[in-house]
Amino acid sequence: MEKIDTLLNHPRDQIADIILRIYNARLTTTSGGNISVKDGEGNIWVTPSAIDKGSLQRKDIVRVKSDGTIQGHYKPSSEFPFHKAIYDARPDIKAVIHAHPPALVSFSIVRKLPDMNIIPQAKHICGPIGYAPYAVPGSDELGRYIATEFKKGFDAVIMENHGCVVGGKNLKDAFVRFETLEFSARTIINASSIGNPSYLSDKQIEVFESQIPADIPEMSEIEHDEKELSARRQISSLVRRSCQQGLMIGSYGTVSVRWRKDDFLITPRDVPRWEIDLADIVQIRNGKREPGKLPSRATKIHQQIYKFNPHVNSIILTQPPHIMAFGVSGQKLDVRTIPESWIFLQDIPLVDFGKQFNMTEAVASLFSKDTPAVIIKNDSIIVTGDKLLQTFDRLEVAEFSARSLIMGSSLGPLVPMNNKQIEDLRKKFLS
Ligand SMILES: [Zn+2]
Repeated sequence: MEKIDTLLNHPRDQIADIILRIYNARLTTTSGGNISVKDGEGNIWVTPSAIDKGSLQRKDIVRVKSDGTIQGHYKPSSEFPFHKAIYDARPDIKAVIHAHPPALVSFSIVRKLPDMNIIPQAKHICGPIGYAPYAVPGSDELGRYIATEFKKGFDAVIMENHGCVVGGKNLKDAFVRFETLEFSARTIINASSIGNPSYLSDKQIEVFESQIPADIPEMSEIEHDEKELSARRQISSLVRRSCQQGLMIGSYGTVSVRWRKDDFLITPRDVPRWEIDLADIVQIRNGKREPGKLPSRATKIHQQIYKFNPHVNSIILTQPPHIMAFGVSGQKLDVRTIPESWIFLQDIPLVDFGKQFNMTEAVASLFSKDTPAVIIKNDSIIVTGDKLLQTFDRLEVAEFSARSLIMGSSLGPLVPMNNKQIEDLRKKFLS
């Protein structure tokens, strides 16, 4: 997954890249979904009708000029009328993504809207969600219904018995919105199958939004050594892998690696996670940040975890949709399911939202060799470990365990391993 430069990359390349990313993330089927970009001259570049989404290339993208002339090897998407209607209704929108991702389709077929106060960044990224009544796909009527919602100011709309459509100031912006919307919907659905999701208040979200780590002073000169450069490489590759594996989305998540003593390298704020590069990563040395860069808003909690836990050398903070089902329903993620889960995770305490900002010492002191991960309600899981790959492995195990518990809940209650079985595991694997 490469950087999408929405200023310098041709719309053909942007679209081909994003449609493949959507397909690989299993957010669209081969035939469903379409994307368009409007350029500065009024051309609309759009995916072709009925062409395999898994192998779409730049030459396949169709150009519809402002006078309606079509240029390309194929016909434009059959949903082109509503793309055009959105651009006509909202001159500020320059990219549109439409698809039938499973969780948002679930909302659309029970005719409900997902509440974006489920995780802290979703409300600002997705905004309130519009709702377009059903009409025949490809019809002008459907275009009118959708454009009416965009005209009201919504940037994301659920289409009744159909799917969703999002707009953005560029394709990157639209994709981050699309992905965040689907993950929020998944989290709500997963949480509803094990309990009742609870939502953040607007005030809690404001507190989150005000966490800007600009108060960390800048260092005057950056230092690199082999270990520092290696930490950058590990972080950028692990962040991409987390995104590819559905464990992180572009709008949220922080990864850090200890460099020396309490100094560390950490991901930046406000860069889509799937395109974080070596140079984006921020060095934190003697409590100061690398000049000209803003580190993640979770920097303080990472700093405290390193300070309180000399055995921790890497940290991942993220929102996978099965783990978060536990985080938003307040249900305990009991990992006494299979030996692997218990050995890797042992106990995962649940912490109230807000403590990751205002009680960082207390949260940092919850971690130990027996407690490598903590869930912050409605926010994230924080996983710690020695090497970054080990921490990532723990994260994967936690998400798989959460998924098994959610899937198992429709079959019957969890029968946890008993104390004797746990003690035997402790003796064999952990002492
Ligand atoms: Zn459709």
